[in-house]
Amino acid sequence: MSLIVQKFGGTSVADAGKVLAAARRVVDAQRQGHQVVVVVSARGRKTDELIAAAAEITRHPEPREMDMLLATGEQESVALMAMAVRELGAEAISLTGAQIGIVTDSSHTKARIQTISTERIRAALSGGAIVIAAGFQGVDDAFNITTLGRGGSDTTATALAAVLRADECEIYTDVDGVFTTDPRIVPQARKIDRLSYDEMLELASLGAGVMHSRSIEFAKKYHVPLRVRPSGSDGEGTLITPTAIEQAPVVTGVALVRQTARVTLSELPDRPGVMSRIFSQMAERKIAIDMVVQDVGSGGLAEVSFTVPDEDLAETLTAAEQAVTDLGAGRVHHGTNVSKVSVVGAGMRTHTGVAAQMFGALADAEINIGMVTTSDIKISVLVERTEADAAVRIIHDGFSLGSEHAAALAVGWDHPASGADSSAASRSELEQDVVSRLAAMEDIVVSEVELDTDQARVTISNLPDRPGTAAAIFTAVAEGGLMVDMIVQNVSHSGQTNLSFTVPRDDLEACLLLAREVAADWDGANLTFDREIAKLSVLGIGLRSHTGVGKRTFGALAEANINIQMINTSEIRTSAVIAAAHGRAALEQLLQTFGLNPA
Ligand code: ADP
Ligand code: ASP
Ligand code: MG
Repeated sequence: MSLIVQKFGGTSVADAGKVLAAARRVVDAQRQGHQVVVVVSARGRKTDELIAAAAEITRHPEPREMDMLLATGEQESVALMAMAVRELGAEAISLTGAQIGIVTDSSHTKARIQTISTERIRAALSGGAIVIAAGFQGVDDAFNITTLGRGGSDTTATALAAVLRADECEIYTDVDGVFTTDPRIVPQARKIDRLSYDEMLELASLGAGVMHSRSIEFAKKYHVPLRVRPSGSDGEGTLITPTAIEQAPVVTGVALVRQTARVTLSELPDRPGVMSRIFSQMAERKIAIDMVVQDVGSGGLAEVSFTVPDEDLAETLTAAEQAVTDLGAGRVHHGTNVSKVSVVGAGMRTHTGVAAQMFGALADAEINIGMVTTSDIKISVLVERTEADAAVRIIHDGFSLGSEHAAALAVGWDHPASGADSSAASRSELEQDVVSRLAAMEDIVVSEVELDTDQARVTISNLPDRPGTAAAIFTAVAEGGLMVDMIVQNVSHSGQTNLSFTVPRDDLEACLLLAREVAADWDGANLTFDREIAKLSVLGIGLRSHTGVGKRTFGALAEANINIQMINTSEIRTSAVIAAAHGRAALEQLLQTFGLNPA
């Protein structure tokens, strides 16, 4: 018998009418012959109201008590949903996280799931009941109630779907599916019919609030077929699948993290172990640092910048100061009121000119770019917060994401590849896989370490820090038909900035000619290059939100006494540029660190 998980978000159960409508959908699914597990969020703005209630009492609520409070929102929802299902004539049982046996670590308000027991759910399902599970909550070993972080009901849903080996996990929400960008910011945003886990992972972690990014980690790790659907209509929604679609648009979507802060450590010694020290300080405090940018050092000094959530800024600065003290050199600066805007698309892997087009659109609108970082399927820039919404709109327009043309491409996509993954053999392998990993459900999964020795680095320093600079460079390079891979732009100092990027080594000469021509327009701009580099990438899932990956990656390189010239990171990839001579040794060190066997 097939089993489906249906998750209803807060707006989809906001009042009695909506609860009953959701219940009807659930009962219909059971009548069609499915076993049904329902995951429900707190109703409407309940979680916000509870947070506000706490704030009226204290500015520093105890995290344990906060979880005790917040979990009540979901408890209310499951009871009402169970009543609604019964009212429609079906059997139902509501269960809290603790009653199911969702065991988490003890990091209150941002707990991670460790195990889930399935006995009680299975028994209820076998007895013919619809199981109504509270989203967002669990218990730690000592039975303290914990919550999984805002938006965490999505994670409850995909985690349950994973352990129950559900045939589909449906996420019902207040929009028609996953859009090319937040439809609240850009009304012309278009619904995407289908996209890959990787694209969704990047989009969600880069700010597409429609799904909790950790929920997609589960879906990807355990191959859960995932569909985001509207609760208010019969739309097909968006299917999220293992692989990118051929003919997919180069750019799939634009995402925004409005509230972020930047931290820069400058004048650091340019030697092995420095990055490792910094990342360890952050990892110890469980600070999920994002958008890491390190450029090549100059004059024996290095500099690294990254972003953190606004609320983690104070603690990050303390950690950064500690790292600087340990290193015996360096300065800490920070910037507030910045936002991160990203474009994501699997088609970027094989297309030139995405960066040029993105930077060009921003330049035309006179929006300055504070920092740049890339992975193979995304480009992120930092902009002033006051310009964030405009930047999203402009980039969305620039790539014609709302247009008929883009829609036509979407219609041309082929259909879900359900066949390949659901063969009997791969199914049973999957089941074993799920069971064997249950003990550490949210462990980092590093699947691969890659060594690329075919690239060269180009750096242009002393660039004017104003709109249009990066656009001019990448437009010239794209017009020459050259693929640019890693792009890194750190923050500016006294009106000047540096930009580094990598290109295939065979294209270096051509690239230098093009870059030199553009740079000639700027007084003092200085072009340097390095032919002998190697690029190392650690690939996996959840690399950004699991604070230990940077620590382990850079720790391993430090141990092998290897200096890092350039870094950039994303949800699914952490890359570093090092000297070519160290490529092999670094690869071996990292394979060993992550317990991967050399191919
Ligand atoms: P729920 O309560 O159902 O979990 P959320 O508010 O968490 O709903 O997520 C849905 C919201 O996500 C939408 O109303 C929309 O404003 C926002 N959103 C942000 N980015 C996107 C996107 N790329 N596609 C769709 N919705 C998005
Ligand atoms: N109710 C929680 C929140 O508002 C969890 C969720 O909705 O997913 O963040
Ligand atoms: Mg949500």
